[in-house]
Amino acid sequence: MNLQLKPKAIRAAATRLRFRTRAFIDGQFVSAQSGRTFTTENPANGRPLAQIAACEAPDVDRAVKAARRAFESGSWSRRKPAERKRILLAFADQLEAHAGELALLDTLEAGKPIADCATMDIPDTIACIRWHAEAADKLYDHVSPTGPENLALIVREPVGVVGCVIPWNFPAQMAAWKLGPALATGNSVVLKPAELTSLSAIRMAELAAEAGVPPGVLNVVPGLGETAGQAVGRHPDVDMVAFTGSTEVGRSFLKYAAESNLKRIILECGGKSPQVVFADAPDLDTVAGHAVGAAFWNMGENCSCGSRLIVHQKIKDKLVAKVVALAKTWKVGDPLDPQTRLGALIERPHLEKVLGYIESGKAEGARLLLGGRRILEESGGYYVEPTVFDRVGGRMRIAREEIFGPVLSVMSFSTDEEAVALANDTNYGLAASIYTGDVNRAHRVARAIRAGTVSVNCFSEGDLTTPFGGFKQSGFAGRDKSIWAHEQYTELKTVWMQLT
Ligand code: NAD
Repeated sequence: MNLQLKPKAIRAAATRLRFRTRAFIDGQFVSAQSGRTFTTENPANGRPLAQIAACEAPDVDRAVKAARRAFESGSWSRRKPAERKRILLAFADQLEAHAGELALLDTLEAGKPIADCATMDIPDTIACIRWHAEAADKLYDHVSPTGPENLALIVREPVGVVGCVIPWNFPAQMAAWKLGPALATGNSVVLKPAELTSLSAIRMAELAAEAGVPPGVLNVVPGLGETAGQAVGRHPDVDMVAFTGSTEVGRSFLKYAAESNLKRIILECGGKSPQVVFADAPDLDTVAGHAVGAAFWNMGENCSCGSRLIVHQKIKDKLVAKVVALAKTWKVGDPLDPQTRLGALIERPHLEKVLGYIESGKAEGARLLLGGRRILEESGGYYVEPTVFDRVGGRMRIAREEIFGPVLSVMSFSTDEEAVALANDTNYGLAASIYTGDVNRAHRVARAIRAGTVSVNCFSEGDLTTPFGGFKQSGFAGRDKSIWAHEQYTELKTVWMQLT
């Protein structure tokens, strides 16, 4: 289904949607063995959307067994890379043919603006699968420079059964960041979506099967983190887990691996990203545009959210006035309205957490310049105004903790050293932006900032050709996207031959 971004067409398409609510294991939809379900709701109005199969350890075990069987059979793992490419490209075509439906599923379940889902999330999801598919038959292995009496091949093989555990903020896209490289390199996958957003992942697995991905190669086990997620993490026959989510839960996966089979763990976790604006930044209107986008895009429910605006004192008041004026123009409201820039926060507990941070900012002495309130309460949805705090101190909670909401903290500096120290004064290291007209300063500061992606004169997460992941407690041992993601889903093998 393709979607016209017009209010009437969107509403009509939303009412026609049919939800897939069961697990997808071994090429089939199945209920949880316990028969239990959990409710997923629409954060735009707080009403239930669907009952989803609540998978637990026995369901995860069934999915892992199917994945292992598929892996051992070679139906995918030993298929010619060019054939895997062809099938994954067909999968991408299927996603494209159902792009409108997938955009609506993510909007309904996650409260994300439909305009974002239709023009960014789902196109990026499709592009991601295509990019990794295309790479499948373009990567060469190595011959080692040994002496004439030996031949040593250094080859990459799929890791085996890969568990993917993902968050709710970009449901389809986070699935694609894992599935693209994991499937392109020949692994079998057991995907555990976030319990708040299962629908697009289940549908993606069905579309993959229709495109020719063999049974057992892509399984989806919806369920709660404590049960289904933990079962994936502790399963003795899962070879690797690729996780995206909070640092706290990421840490648990390291424990699960240590206490089970030492499975490989790749973590993509939280952030508290700085946006550093120097006094020589070329155009403050442009900077304000990027700063507002970085802070409020996806309601601030974004791992690389530029939640700390660190500005040279000389230009701070001027820039902050522009940021506030622009943020006021961001329409908050119904995620199905194509004009909406800020939709609903994901759920009531998260809304309360974000409002709690706003209260802590006030109590700790920051100056509230904009927003700060829950709005549209009568809708039953979880909406918060774009919020800007000035005079934020480095020890305040709003300066240190990941809020994951539309809350921007402004701080100021007077020297480059101070700016770098403030930017790095965090346990996280996912992303950063620098704004300056001086190319030397840009390079110097980009080197000094401890983060996986540093953007200069923009807010960006790069594109599919660039790795994405974090330093410090923003990540562990891996990267999403790019050719580096392929490597992490493979084992390195040496084949050493004695020549006679
Ligand atoms: P979360 O850590 O609460 O949940 C992530 C996943 O882990 C979900 O599928 C959840 O069900 C599962 N889970 C929860 N508790 C578990 C447990 N005890 N054992 C096993 N699995 C468990 O994160 P979230 O709230 O879904 O997502 C928000 C977080 O994700 C933020 O911290 C954000 O920064 C991060 N994130 C990071 C990136 C990145 O690329 N670095 C991208 C998107 C989101």
